[in-house]
Amino acid sequence: MKTFYITTAIDYVNAAPHIGHAYEKIIADTIARWHRLNGEDVFFLTGTDENAQKNEQAAREKGVETKRFVDVNSKKFEELCKKLNISNNDFIKTTEKRHVIVAQNIFKKVYEKSDIYKGFYEGYYCEGCEAFLTEKELVDGKCPEHNKEPIWLKEESYFFKLSKYQDKILELLKSKDFVIPESKRNEMVSRLENEGLKDISVSRNKLKWGIDVPINKNHKIYVWFDALINYVSAIGYPNGNKFKKYWPADVHLIGKGINWFHSVIWPGILFSAGMKISKHIVVHGYLTVNGQKIGKSLDNVIDPINLVNKYGVDELRYFLIREIPFGEDGDFSEDALKNRINNELANDLGNLVSRSLTLAEKFKGETQGKDELSKKLNLKLINEYMDKFELHNALSEIWKFVNDVNKYVNDKQPWNLEGKELSNVLYNLLESLRIISILVSPFMPETSEKINKQLGIKEGKLKNCKFSKTKYKIKKTEHLFEKIK
Ligand SMILES: [Zn+2]
Repeated sequence: MKTFYITTAIDYVNAAPHIGHAYEKIIADTIARWHRLNGEDVFFLTGTDENAQKNEQAAREKGVETKRFVDVNSKKFEELCKKLNISNNDFIKTTEKRHVIVAQNIFKKVYEKSDIYKGFYEGYYCEGCEAFLTEKELVDGKCPEHNKEPIWLKEESYFFKLSKYQDKILELLKSKDFVIPESKRNEMVSRLENEGLKDISVSRNKLKWGIDVPINKNHKIYVWFDALINYVSAIGYPNGNKFKKYWPADVHLIGKGINWFHSVIWPGILFSAGMKISKHIVVHGYLTVNGQKIGKSLDNVIDPINLVNKYGVDELRYFLIREIPFGEDGDFSEDALKNRINNELANDLGNLVSRSLTLAEKFKGETQGKDELSKKLNLKLINEYMDKFELHNALSEIWKFVNDVNKYVNDKQPWNLEGKELSNVLYNLLESLRIISILVSPFMPETSEKINKQLGIKEGKLKNCKFSKTKYKIKKTEHLFEKIK
């Protein structure tokens, strides 16, 4: 069976999850569910990044022990996954022993290959990023990510010989679809060509929190080096069955802010450790809220749990995927969310299901006829969009079909028909609903279940997206979506 391994970035736990975290998890979940629908053996990983120095700082500010602090906050991310109906197969916490062992194992392996050496590092260091920044990366002397001036830091450090892999990494980056979309790939290629690759610091001195460098307990492994390794520690590198089965990963889904780490540094580590390279780095844009960047300091950190409670999980999932063109930045606003719920969900899909089922429930006898609608469905195009991770386009193409079926109802006016003619229209409507239910299931799993339940059928797979002779047991119940005033 074809396998498919997808990961999200692991989240920092120094604050509660916001809408941006929800967005990434929803995209990854939709891709994972799509591949399951295609009959593949999917492994879907998410988790939390807990060894960062800023967790210790945040815990100290709150007066709690660091481990307790990260556990409590990590739980919030796990709860978010449940709330959003995320179908992850595992959830890795980087303070777990299974991760610590692998992180040290790989550090040692790279060290023994003479790709790690001791030296001194000095430079601009952003405490928010926990990373040294180049002068070029600063905007008005500040870290653009944190809007904060970096400090000048000199310390003993272990270095990873990233420069040694420059040619191999550049070649990899230039290969067609290692980084998706192309705009995000080009950013990495031109940065690498302009700046070249320097060796990077992979340890920090005299810290209490973090994973010990296996060859020198006075150092902790630099959090980025350790964090990236979660993708293999979670599946049991080097000898676990899951590692053998699923590695290399098909997709690392990430936000654009950590593209360099995934597209350049991660392959460098993998090359050095003699491991296979992940197939795709898929980069999504950032969300703004009412046009503003999400930040702790700004009062716009929208709690996705509240949004789900207020509007429903499928409503939020649908909105985020449909509204934001994949790979680009997009804006979240409750007004836009309400509009899409009322127009596309309640009107287009909800009404279609409701009026079709009202007619079908009243109709006695078997629905049969000839296929008049499947040519309106461009399954090939939908598949192509999904393969290119253009989820918004796939959803929009599915909606074209929804609206074609709505148009069919309006043209046929089945409420004026009876007998064979009515049977034929109902046949077309029910088969279309069944197929729509399959296609929307990765995006809106609960909605798909509700449609199936009312049709009296089991959930289908992608290969069932064609007109056939299905036995239905119609039982109309609730509305799929409530309109919002
Ligand atoms: Zn920063």
